Amino acid sequence: MQRIYFDNASTTPMLPEVIDLMTGIMRHDFGNPSSIHQHGRRARAIIEEARKKVARVINSSIGEVFFTGSATEASNMTIKNAVTDLGVKRIIYAATEHHCVLHSIEHTVRHNNVHAVSLKIDSDGRPDLEELDMLLAQSTIKTLVCLMHGNNETGTMNEITEIGQLCKKYGALYHCDTVQTLGKYPIDVQQAHISFLTGSAHKFHGPKGTGFVFISHENIIQPYIHGGSQERNMRSGTENVAGIAGLAMALEKSNEKMAENFRYILTLRNEFKARLTETLPDIRFNGNQEDKFLAHVLSVSFPPGPKAELLVMNLDIEGVSASSGSACSSGVEEDSHVLQAIGHPHERKTIRFSFSPFNTLDEIGRTAGILKKLLPAGDFKIQG
Ligand code: PLP
Repeated sequence: MQRIYFDNASTTPMLPEVIDLMTGIMRHDFGNPSSIHQHGRRARAIIEEARKKVARVINSSIGEVFFTGSATEASNMTIKNAVTDLGVKRIIYAATEHHCVLHSIEHTVRHNNVHAVSLKIDSDGRPDLEELDMLLAQSTIKTLVCLMHGNNETGTMNEITEIGQLCKKYGALYHCDTVQTLGKYPIDVQQAHISFLTGSAHKFHGPKGTGFVFISHENIIQPYIHGGSQERNMRSGTENVAGIAGLAMALEKSNEKMAENFRYILTLRNEFKARLTETLPDIRFNGNQEDKFLAHVLSVSFPPGPKAELLVMNLDIEGVSASSGSACSSGVEEDSHVLQAIGHPHERKTIRFSFSPFNTLDEIGRTAGILKKLLPAGDFKIQG
């Protein structure tokens, strides 16, 4: 029996045409893009073509797109250097941001004259935008707002245009982590007044180890990695030509099929939710389920019980790859920082199922059946 992959928020299988493109480039276009001979010029042309495609998707100019090794690198670079180079003295963020954002903030607060303010969030993880408005209105101190587009653990989505408009109104910079939404939801950096945007190819069926950052032309920061002045001196190091081409093709293809993929994934998600609700007692879903949510992320909270504790492992044994909502800290399993931030009851067990267009309704049915088998009704301590 074929294994089932329901961990697409973690990484996605590559599109076959992206693999073909990259293989061809690795085989034939191996020149160093900095070389002036023809081999080099061919590689350079591939990168510049890729930059055009990315800029088209996010509605930026070509000169505002820089390729990096990951979204993690892109967030480190923009958050730390916005503080050192653009005079940022305050960072406003939410506790549900990805660790690459939170830890970059922590680092920069430790080493620079900048303070960080964590916004109130509701039980779905939505930041309080009235508080954001109030904080921005209260002080003219140079501020960077870090609020992601879609949360990788709960699927809750933020209103990025509203956030961007607030930032514009008060002259704040806006860093937006769009790792979970690129290629899945429309993103327009101009409409949303985004100053810095980050993305990672492997989340939209491209290769691992390739990301990019959009830096608006009004907010030029210094390079983060120094060396041979590649990426117009913003990110030195010989470029990953095949990876960059793969990123651009994967993003373009995902973007073209956005509406179709969304509808398909929503069908999978709704069917899975319905099956779980019908067959298992006291199932809850973390994050916003009403309107603004990532269709591909379904975070399921199971009632406590001995079988629930071992669920990710037992699903794995049964042939289903899904992700646990807990992190192991000092040998103790505890809810992830995101689940803790939204007040998820720690005695319950969360598993994140995340889908892609490569999944099928048959896999949904099979996984629902496996869960029913793994969680016999008598196992639960039903809570009020
Ligand atoms: N931001 C979000 C929301 C993510 O889900 C991830 C990866 O899980 C990242 C940032 C970091 O991406 P990468 O590990 O590719 O740098």
